[in-house]
Amino acid sequence: MSLAPDSTALTPALGDLFARELPELALPWRAEATPEPTLLALNEPLAESLGLDPAALRTPEGLGLLTGTLVPAGATPVAQVYAGHQFGGYSPRLGDGRALLLGEITDTDGVLRDLHLKGSGRTPLARGGDGLAAVGPMLREYVVSEAMHALGIPTTRALAVVATGRTVRRETPLPGAVLARTASSHLRVGSFQYARATDDLDLLRRLADHAIARHHPDAAQADNPYLALFDAVAAAQASLVARWMCVGFVHGVMNTDNVTISGESIDYGPCAFLDVFEPTTVFSSIDEGGRYAFGNQPPITEWNLARLAEALLPLIDDDQEKAVALAVEGLGRFRDRYAEAWKAGTRAKLGLPAGLDDAVATPLVDEVYELMRANHVDHTGFFRALGSAARGNAEPVRGLVLDLAGIDAWLERWLAACPSGPDADAMDRVNPIYVPRNHLVEETLAAATAGDLAPLASLLAAVRAPYDERAGLERYAEPAPDSFGDYQTFCGT
Ligand code: AMP
Ligand code: MG
Repeated sequence: MSLAPDSTALTPALGDLFARELPELALPWRAEATPEPTLLALNEPLAESLGLDPAALRTPEGLGLLTGTLVPAGATPVAQVYAGHQFGGYSPRLGDGRALLLGEITDTDGVLRDLHLKGSGRTPLARGGDGLAAVGPMLREYVVSEAMHALGIPTTRALAVVATGRTVRRETPLPGAVLARTASSHLRVGSFQYARATDDLDLLRRLADHAIARHHPDAAQADNPYLALFDAVAAAQASLVARWMCVGFVHGVMNTDNVTISGESIDYGPCAFLDVFEPTTVFSSIDEGGRYAFGNQPPITEWNLARLAEALLPLIDDDQEKAVALAVEGLGRFRDRYAEAWKAGTRAKLGLPAGLDDAVATPLVDEVYELMRANHVDHTGFFRALGSAARGNAEPVRGLVLDLAGIDAWLERWLAACPSGPDADAMDRVNPIYVPRNHLVEETLAAATAGDLAPLASLLAAVRAPYDERAGLERYAEPAPDSFGDYQTFCGT
């Protein structure tokens, strides 16, 4: 017997914690009507983990919830106000120009999650923008955030992409869409910059207390809770960026408004995974100076955290000089934490034994990256092929490197450093075989924009189990054909 969709799933209890506790940062607003909503992608496991019935979400009322046109009773959708440094230049009032926080939902584990829309129409913070989003960029966020989640990297998650039936005018007319996503919150460094700039110390303290309660509750017990909050954010970001570096992810637009307090990756605009390993890689068409190049991501994170520290100074200590000294110490701890996280991550990628002396491990790591760089080696492919070398077959990895003498010498030293052999299975658990490669993402989005969703389903199936090699998915493990050329991405506008 088939049951009717559970209509209570369409009116989930959406909290208004953010809007209530921080009204200065929340502009109540409503989504624009959608002429002809059509579901393009629904994340059923995520829906279920939120206590939402996938069948109900597919109904017209469900699409209303997913596009913001049907607001559950008691919910207060808001556009969030924040500031931010964009490419180093400060904007005092950014905020959600085309996004809405519908409210918070408690998932089946009892964890509070933001339910948020992107592309839901102009808000009072839209400035020159049209408030809209196109199908391609919203599906791009869906695919990449699912891949990141499956890789075990903290991230916001896509719940659904709904085509609106509206045409969005970009360089060419494109079909419009709304993305519904979840996050452990949308608090960002830019939220603190905004609160600090108002000179309202009470607002800044309420924001910090809200952030501590939601993300870093241990900080509340510390001698200096706001310094402890800074430390906790810095630790979360150190771990996050080390994960990006280990997997070859380039965020592309690490403005302070895109750096979360939770430590989740957010805002998949011009992001992309490395093809060949090259630290200077920039994909974003607008990042002319290479500020957000792959290799710059750790120091840029430190720069962004320095902006957070500045915003928190009045809470860290009444004595400005003392506050600065404490903040500088805190930033130093970020460096150490990042170095530790990267060291652990790269050793795991190479299958090096725990406790291997730095004097042996550090040059092995440095030299293998230099070999990859000098030989333009495919990043994802190399580490996976190294797993084969750990099992006794060095040919796949030798096939990727032009400098055979160099790779042979390195392999010999690598094997010598692992007396009981590198643990190939453990390597395969940290070195993905399937990442959303740029040519595959482009192919998928072009097909979806033209109405064919089959490639999207196949790509999602591959990247949702990124460490498990499966027959039939060979093309998802291969580098781009030469004809693909130099890849450029564009902001999600
Ligand atoms: P992002 O870099 O995508 O995080 O966006 C930076 C800022 O630009 C945010 O304030 C966005 O809300 C805003 N924005 C981006 N695209 C649009 C758009 N099409 N209409 C209005 N605001 C936008
Ligand atoms: Mg953003």
